[in-house]
Amino acid sequence: MTSIATLGSHCSLQVLKGAKDEGLKTILVCEKKREKLYKRFPFIDEMIMVDSFKEVLDQKCQRILEENNAVLIPHGTLVAQMSSEEIESIKTPVFGNKWILRWESDREMKEKLMREAKLPMPEPVTEPSQIEKLVIVKRQGAAGGKGYFMAANEEDYNSKRNQLISEGVISKDETLYIQEYAAGVLAYLTFFYSPLNEELEFFGVDQRHESDIEGLGRIPAEQQMKSNKVPSFNVIGNSPLVLRESLLDEVYKMGENFVEAAKRVVAPGMNGPFCIEGVYDENAKFTSFEFSARIVAGSNIYMDGSPYYSLLFNETMSMGKRIAREVKTATESNQLDKITT
Ligand code: AMP
Repeated sequence: MTSIATLGSHCSLQVLKGAKDEGLKTILVCEKKREKLYKRFPFIDEMIMVDSFKEVLDQKCQRILEENNAVLIPHGTLVAQMSSEEIESIKTPVFGNKWILRWESDREMKEKLMREAKLPMPEPVTEPSQIEKLVIVKRQGAAGGKGYFMAANEEDYNSKRNQLISEGVISKDETLYIQEYAAGVLAYLTFFYSPLNEELEFFGVDQRHESDIEGLGRIPAEQQMKSNKVPSFNVIGNSPLVLRESLLDEVYKMGENFVEAAKRVVAPGMNGPFCIEGVYDENAKFTSFEFSARIVAGSNIYMDGSPYYSLLFNETMSMGKRIAREVKTATESNQLDKITT
């Protein structure tokens, strides 16, 4: 019997609950400091206790996973805490495409894949001296928006960067990525692509709540002007959103373009869950600043099923359960190699 394993963080509860509901054994790789938290949940069958998630690369951990025929579900914590080389060296079968996670982590590769998928993107700015409009300055990897900042020109960029360096938030030799700021309604569009039936499903939309950029919006301009704090975009939680139905056709097109592009540039393509992240402007035009090539934590709001999945499935279907269903179907039809790497 196949089992489902994941790291104890991000969306692990949803993933393992979904797996349990599908009748699969569930395994959590758990940091010792979080044992008490995860012990509260009866759907976790086995916990592999570690001091650091990197131990997932150790023989001991991989042996336990192998003995259990485990499929490892990658999520944001795996991408944030491990290098691409480390992820690619994992021997346990990884759900989806572990090779595409490098394209998520590396800003230049990310931009290349987004262009290949014809996603409308904000313009990148190559040098601080070329900042002409409001920009957002980002760090590499899945930093969750921590240490990001906005700048209006080169001088503004330098003073904020220096301030963050002196506060120890970013390091002096870090390469920062500058992109035009796109204003509008935030929308994080989650999809699932199944290589088994070659179909793309639209799962749902979430919004992220980010501190302290959101907190800043709650105080009057007069106080904002007096503050010399550099607001960051650290994700605190998520909330649901549904789109105007007239936008759905374009949403599916973007998802399909992404799947097609991923097939061309990074075999075996974009299998499993992924998210296209961006904003809708005043003309309902979408600009995408980011993608995640695996399950996103925003799917946690739909543990009981999303509005769009209730249109596709006559049962409650979370993203965690959808993943487990795919693993189960592939196991039964001897096609695990098609959905894992
Ligand atoms: P990211 O790491 O790219 O997902 O960015 C973290 C957060 O920064 C996003 O959730 C947005 O709130 C914000 N953000 C990133 N890029 C842009 C952009 N080009 N324009 C406006 N907001 C952005």
